[in-house]
Amino acid sequence: MFINGEWKDAENHATRPVINPANGEVVTYAPEGTIADARSAIYAARNAFEDGVWSGLAAAERAAYLFKIADKIDEYAEELTELETMDNGKPLREAGFDVADAAACFRYYAGMITKPDGQTYHVADPMQAMVVREPVGVCGLIVPWNYPLLMSVWKIAPALAAGNTIVFKPSEVTPITPKKLFEIFEEVGLPKGVANMVTGAGPVVGHEIASHPEVDMVSFTGGTKTGKHIMKTAADTMKKVSLELGGKSPNIIFADADFETAVDYALFGIYAGAGQVCSAGSRILVEEKIYDQFVNRFVERARSIKVGPGYDPSTEMGPLVSKEHLDKVLSYIELGIQEGAKLACGGKRIDRNGFETGYFVEPTVFVDVSEEMRIVQEEIFGPVVVIQKFKDEAEAIKLANSTVYGLAGAVFSNDGSKALRVIKKLRAGITWINSYHPTYNEAPWGGYKQSGIGRSLGTFGLEEFQEIKQININLQVEPIGWFSN
Ligand code: NAD
Repeated sequence: MFINGEWKDAENHATRPVINPANGEVVTYAPEGTIADARSAIYAARNAFEDGVWSGLAAAERAAYLFKIADKIDEYAEELTELETMDNGKPLREAGFDVADAAACFRYYAGMITKPDGQTYHVADPMQAMVVREPVGVCGLIVPWNYPLLMSVWKIAPALAAGNTIVFKPSEVTPITPKKLFEIFEEVGLPKGVANMVTGAGPVVGHEIASHPEVDMVSFTGGTKTGKHIMKTAADTMKKVSLELGGKSPNIIFADADFETAVDYALFGIYAGAGQVCSAGSRILVEEKIYDQFVNRFVERARSIKVGPGYDPSTEMGPLVSKEHLDKVLSYIELGIQEGAKLACGGKRIDRNGFETGYFVEPTVFVDVSEEMRIVQEEIFGPVVVIQKFKDEAEAIKLANSTVYGLAGAVFSNDGSKALRVIKKLRAGITWINSYHPTYNEAPWGGYKQSGIGRSLGTFGLEEFQEIKQININLQVEPIGWFSN
């Protein structure tokens, strides 16, 4: 753990094994932080904030640190990519994209923070009113395991750019690349106490961050259930809260779409990251006219996806992140069968030919599903997709919006007006037309409904980490004379 500029074990020296999901082997042991460790980090961040060692710097000086961090991420890109694959299981190809994106995200916010901000208002003489943006203070940042490096950076880069100090908690399952990132922070000489990392259990370290009165804001990415708990916990001290949560996103394919493009992106939408992507297109809705043809082609291609360890360059889909998560995904597949859905392909753990100890699952497709089934309504977060049928535009929209989630969605059609019409009816924050998954540092990321509150990335992502202050200046310094004497 990295607290007040120093590397620390847990105060009671407890550790937790970190497992390589491709083979079940222990890679290393991470400190199992305690409440006392979380408090040390919170006080370090508080002191650094109050001292102004970071918020007091000129924006250009903070930006210089962030540019250096980006350069270091590039310098260590190969090592970070390999570590990410070992830690999370994702193929090297995917991990490489994440590392490049992480560097770009630091550069994006380093550039933004030096640009003009604030506003002035023409109010009645002799007053001058203006608005300035200030850091929120101590920000608690809690992230999941599916993009261990990138999810960390999506929070850390804007939080630091805005002048906050941070207490960061990676997922207990994937602390390795976050640790390397904090080594980079040390290498570029971030002032002590500005960026602190505590590893350990969510209900212990995470809960302490969400509840402690010296934390001004909690920014969380993870499951909706945990998000609700964090929001309730943070309410007691009225923290600013930003939540990026789960999804069950619809991918709508109209009969007039370019067929092979739609199939191709639908596969990418669900099986990239082995389906462990919050915005995964886990419900494919297909117009009745092409439904059978679509299912046949989709299944044919899903069957030929090369599943394997992430470090094998020919692997197209890696393992699930942990034994616990593997069991959860397999139990959803079992549930789907019990609910009466039909397995069109996959459905099993792959545990032969050297895969015995890894957490591999076949790309899985369910058809003959109905709207109320739990496999249609709940986030499975694995390589499991349901393919539903719709007869017209109105039914597609109704089905698309029929879960508690509202994170992402896509439409495939060659009718531009129809595509945009349907996208505008989707109750979701991240959408695509004739595409799935591309994400940009420039564009806001976040969900409607129970998929979250607030936005990451873009200008909106910086604003999450800022307070807004109005300043009213009297240009005629004399008594107001409101009272008679
Ligand atoms: P999770 O909710 O189990 O854990 C996320 C983080 O919260 C971890 O660091 C965990 O230790 C911590 N945590 C757990 N219990 C806590 C508590 N009581 N108090 C404070 N912190 C606690 O999620 P996960 O299984 O790690 O990740 C998968 C989930 O993340 C999926 O639901 C996925 O959709 C979501 N996700 C969302 C986005 C997004 O941008 N919307 C991005 C990635 C992942």
